[in-house]
Amino acid sequence: MDAVDQRRCLVVVGNGMAGARTVEEILERGGGDQFAITMFGEEPYGNYNRILLSNVLSGVDDEAGIFLNDMSWYAENGITLHAGTRVIRIDRFARRIYADDGTETPYDKLIIATGSRAFVPPIPGIHRPGRGYHQGVFAFRTIDDTRNMIRYAREHERAVVIGGGLLGLEAARGLQNHLAHVTLVHAAGHLMNAQLDAQAGAILRRSIERLGIEVVLGAHTTEVLGKHAVTGVKLKDGRTVACDVVVVAAGIRANAEMAATSGLPVERGIVVDDQMRVQDEVDIYSVGECVQHRGETYGLVAPLWEQARVLADHITGTNPNAAYHGSRLATKLKVAGVDVASMGLKEAERDDDETVVFAEPRKGVYKSIIIRDDRLVGATLLGDVQKVAFLMQAFDRGLALPKERVEMLFDLGAPSADVSAAELGDDVQVCNCNGVTKRALVDTVQGGVKTLTGVMDATRAGKGCGSCKGLVAQIVEWAADGKVEDDPAASWYVPGVPMPKAELMAVIREHGLKSVSAVFATLVPGGEEDAKSKMGLASLLRMMWGDEYVDERDARFINDRVHANIQRDGTFSVVPQIKGGVTTPAQLKRIAEVAEKYSVPLVKITGGQRIDLLGIRKEDLPSVWADLDMPSGYAYGKSFRTVKTCVGSDFCRFGVGDSTALGIAIEDRFKAIEGPGKMKLAVTGCPRNCAEAYVKDLGVVAIDGGRWEIYVGGAAGAHVRKGDLLAVVDSPDEVITLTGRFLQYYRESANWLERTYAWVPRLGIDHIRAVVVDDSDGIAARLDAAMAASVAAYRDPWLERRDPVTPGQFRTSLPLAVLPQVPVRDTVPVAVPGPVVPSIGSAVPGGGSADNGNGAGPASARRV
Ligand SMILES: Cc1cc2nc3c(=O)[nH]c(=O)nc-3n(C[C@H](O)[C@H](O)[C@H](O)COP(=O)(O)OP(=O)(O)OC[C@H]3O[C@@H](n4cnc5c(N)ncnc54)[C@H](O)[C@@H]3O)c2cc1C
Ligand code: SF4
Ligand code: SF4
Repeated sequence: MDAVDQRRCLVVVGNGMAGARTVEEILERGGGDQFAITMFGEEPYGNYNRILLSNVLSGVDDEAGIFLNDMSWYAENGITLHAGTRVIRIDRFARRIYADDGTETPYDKLIIATGSRAFVPPIPGIHRPGRGYHQGVFAFRTIDDTRNMIRYAREHERAVVIGGGLLGLEAARGLQNHLAHVTLVHAAGHLMNAQLDAQAGAILRRSIERLGIEVVLGAHTTEVLGKHAVTGVKLKDGRTVACDVVVVAAGIRANAEMAATSGLPVERGIVVDDQMRVQDEVDIYSVGECVQHRGETYGLVAPLWEQARVLADHITGTNPNAAYHGSRLATKLKVAGVDVASMGLKEAERDDDETVVFAEPRKGVYKSIIIRDDRLVGATLLGDVQKVAFLMQAFDRGLALPKERVEMLFDLGAPSADVSAAELGDDVQVCNCNGVTKRALVDTVQGGVKTLTGVMDATRAGKGCGSCKGLVAQIVEWAADGKVEDDPAASWYVPGVPMPKAELMAVIREHGLKSVSAVFATLVPGGEEDAKSKMGLASLLRMMWGDEYVDERDARFINDRVHANIQRDGTFSVVPQIKGGVTTPAQLKRIAEVAEKYSVPLVKITGGQRIDLLGIRKEDLPSVWADLDMPSGYAYGKSFRTVKTCVGSDFCRFGVGDSTALGIAIEDRFKAIEGPGKMKLAVTGCPRNCAEAYVKDLGVVAIDGGRWEIYVGGAAGAHVRKGDLLAVVDSPDEVITLTGRFLQYYRESANWLERTYAWVPRLGIDHIRAVVVDDSDGIAARLDAAMAASVAAYRDPWLERRDPVTPGQFRTSLPLAVLPQVPVRDTVPVAVPGPVVPSIGSAVPGGGSADNGNGAGPASARRV
């Protein structure tokens, strides 16, 4: 007979930052032995860092990177999670909660952590009766909001963000990645008016405008215009701002309706006492943004980490008297890329308040402090937050202030950064995003981790918005007593060979090292081989030595060993070369015959205009290639992939350049070239951009007068970025020359796995233009020659079928997993139900359709 579970039932409603953190704290205190824990979350996911949605919107992080606890965490900790389930009512007397899936769940202890939602002012036109938000209107609160916004924005041109606070600024900055024009419309007279005074707000405005965001202040939105979809917003003074996307970031409201209708005390939030217990309740608690404590509600994470600790101490009995006394809000954030720290008062209130203000508008720097009775009662730092540690501590703990007040804003000798770090209290939260205290950092250092990156990896400090990195570094330095070890590996090209790329290339050349094993043997002390470094080295050596490179099969990843792309079930996909997307009836026939002969389960047109035969068994690869009798299309590996083309001037009535011919010529020349990351290109016959050239590693656009624009560093996969204009040239030949030179410079100087969308902004387009176009470093001829040598070394890898390199090269060693068979679709498939999408998502045309593999999403559906 099963043992009866003696534990009490703890139910947590809300699986956001506060709910999940409280459960983590409870588990840390052994609460797993006391409670059988059940969680309900309206969002159909595990627990993610909401703060980082801004990074997802701006393309810095992908969704997967922001999860704090994925589904397996719940299972591993014995937590029953009802994800995608909304709790609709609590019966406080029967001690049960009722959810929208019809279930009821008993509890002994209940925690409500329902957070808040976006506040959407009742502006006429913002909603469509019975259909949620108007088409093109979005809030910015959840993963689904962010996804829907990105999908919609990709196909539109202009956005208006309503609200110039933290969230509005983040939204505006993020949207710039997807749309050409972003206007920030703010009702108050300056940006972030809740945290900043007018002067700081004006400086922030300049910094934001410098980023290319238009700012309209004193602007009350009175109407959202547009019949079927948004076409603009109308302001109180009669002006209209044209746009097709509206993002509302006008504040938040506590999610407390469910609590209120269940009879709990709700004012601006659910009213709790110092133990986070709901007023007049015995077994119901609440934490996070849905809470009102001593009259205050909070809209930032720092207070909720404190609340979570108190509640966990209390509920597990670790410290039944633990008490939350409210938070003094000292925030440091990176808003739209600008460092901001603010605490307490933003301006002097009394005649005898002392103030020190320093402003450097051109540099975007503003610093101010307000002192009352020798105590710091307010501070603002903008653009330069070096002194934040001392100021936060002084504000929080009432430290004695230096006589020379100006020393609080500048390092004039004292207090130095070290003193600041030393004086910080152990409990001071250093990283707000991930709730890491100074003590956690110090413990990690004392536990033996002596590098900054090591401490950051171990604690997650600094891995959120990144604004605390400087302070984390100071504390690590102080805790290590000045003996911080550099993490040189951060600059190495691959982890197993201790050298940055330029140095590594020089030594490889000097010693004539032509194989991966030779590099390890010569350059690694002890000659130890590192598996993680092999692919990067193989790619580098092939780039450097071309034909002379000595290939060692174990240095390759499976895709490169068999020249095909491994799929989830262990079969491979085969993509023959179809240059520029142009094929012939004979080729099509051959492909069709191969597909029939080998019973290929799925024949798919790829996002790069080629034909993918999916589901080929490893041992069939050589005969498939032989029967196809076409060269490899290089749909695997870190190499030059494809040149997508549009119809161009030959057939298209808008075309001003023969994009197809140029695309084929480029693909023909650079096919198979290896690089640090894959390289996807496109050529389009006019700025209508049907081949999506603006979002490719290199994209060419024909313009009037027989000229061609070359864009570089674009992306439209998990990361979305519009390319930067490298040059405008007069002929296809010049395009080919600059393409080769650009790709060679990228191959030589990018880090392993660094795509051009990261490399171009890292080096800066001006620098790249100077080297590649203007030959500022005098290396153009060498780059051209190096590329020509690589081009000359081309050999179709599929010819290896005649002479396998190892006996087992094409023998299957993997047990093939049985995958759900993809049906051959001869009718339009019925949409597969996806995760619950809130009503705003329904505004997205084609919403829910899968990415088309080139990351362009539904966009291509409407293209020729
Ligand atoms: C884009 C963005 C950027 C931000 N940037 C910062 C920043 O830089 N610094 C900072 O300090 N803070 C920032 N914040 C604020 C921070 O994210 C919040 O303070 C924090 O998420 C609040 O945590 P919470 O658990 O109280 O609420 P949430 O994280 O919102 O979690 C509440 C959860 O409860 C669920 N829920 C609600 N009602 C029910 C119900 N009836 N049944 C079941 N589940 C329910 C919701 O679906 C939600 O998942 C940002 C917020 C956003 C949206
Ligand atoms: S970009 Fe589109 S419109 Fe322009 S030439 Fe190509 S196919 Fe025609
Ligand atoms: S976009 Fe499609 S093909 Fe690309 S990784 Fe995701 S699922 Fe795979």
